[in-house]
Amino acid sequence: SSTKPKNSIAVLGATGSIGAATLEVVRELGEPWHLWGASAHSRILELAGTLQDFQPHYMVATCAEAARGCDRSRLPPGCELLVGPDALVRLAQDPSVDTVVAAIVGSAGLMSTLAAAQAGKRLALANKETLVVAGGLVTDALRQSGGEMVPVDSEHSAIFQALQAGSKREVERIVLTASGGPFRTWTSAQMADASVEDALAHPTWQMGRKISIDSATMMNKALEVIEARWLFDLPADKISVVVHPQSIIHSFVEFTDGSVLAQLSPPDMRLPIQYALTYPDRIACPCPKMDWRQPWTLDLEPADEERFPALELGWEVAKRGGTCGVVVNAANEAAVELFLSGELRFPEIVAGCRRILDQHHYTPSPGLDELMRLDRWAREETLKWAAQC
Ligand code: NAD
Ligand code: MG
Repeated sequence: SSTKPKNSIAVLGATGSIGAATLEVVRELGEPWHLWGASAHSRILELAGTLQDFQPHYMVATCAEAARGCDRSRLPPGCELLVGPDALVRLAQDPSVDTVVAAIVGSAGLMSTLAAAQAGKRLALANKETLVVAGGLVTDALRQSGGEMVPVDSEHSAIFQALQAGSKREVERIVLTASGGPFRTWTSAQMADASVEDALAHPTWQMGRKISIDSATMMNKALEVIEARWLFDLPADKISVVVHPQSIIHSFVEFTDGSVLAQLSPPDMRLPIQYALTYPDRIACPCPKMDWRQPWTLDLEPADEERFPALELGWEVAKRGGTCGVVVNAANEAAVELFLSGELRFPEIVAGCRRILDQHHYTPSPGLDELMRLDRWAREETLKWAAQC
């Protein structure tokens, strides 16, 4: 439960944008918080360097090939190196770990995130794709194990914080804010010719490549609608999206009496990461603060579902559940890769997801094996579809 201190941390995906920010937060927090272990996929030597001034018990290299160049002398003192995806599950379930920061990108994070949930950990969740793919399995596992989920995603952290002002039956709706991404003001015709560089140029956040492309298509917001559905156990029609280009208001909760609560702060992921680690407490944070002596203009505008058809996919998947999430997520992961390597045009990312979703054989409550089979199937279908585009 959340009353026991949860100070021993494992970071899965420690070389990424969220992972690196998490290491900074842990360093800044200091004792009693400490890093028990961390993983990297390919940049294991880089991680070994970063961890020299932490005292981790072990590091995990998920890519065996990458681990070859990393001998004992390169590791932090007293640190052991474990290799392969099974080691990731072992780290996520280590009895000495209280909080698992799930910061791997994509469904590659599924098994380790699920393992942390099964082991009753506090799951500090950045890896939203895991909830999109297997939200039912993760929430069931947490219920059975007595674990808990605290969001790292800034919008969900805002909602998690604002929800503390009322009870669940007093919630009318939640409203996720979206920056609108780099193409907020672009026409569909302009987006049709968008380059990889254009799509990676996010106006307010510095993030990994996959989520940056997701922000440009607004698939990121669609994934966040599905994430919210599982995190807060709300039906799709109680989840709204509004565009807010400044990324200062991180989301809203509207209560039944019409009161709306929000969480605001300059955009910096260290704040929601730290809150996930220190919850239910708040602790001083080195993030930039609101400067109340300067003027602020905070704009809100409705989201445009015609220019950003990904949004409709989000509500549809949140409503239908079952196998829809795994299929849309895998199609999107495959399509984003193809776009990044110049093999798909920008609008085809979401068009491909729609097509593969409509083609798939729906079932309402898939088990883990079926999810993994559909994950592979949707990737293969996306490749086949892209080849004839
Ligand atoms: P990133 O690309 O910067 O980092 C990804 C991490 O995952 C790296 O540590 C990498 O080594 C690891 N990884 C990649 N493939 C792997 C595999 N096959 N097996 C094991 N590990 C693998 O991504 P990011 O921007 O840090 O995003 C991580 C997650 O957090 C995503 O789910 C993203 O949607 C979510 N998120 C990110 C931000 C942000 O500001 N970056 C904000 C909210 C949510
Ligand atoms: Mg977000």
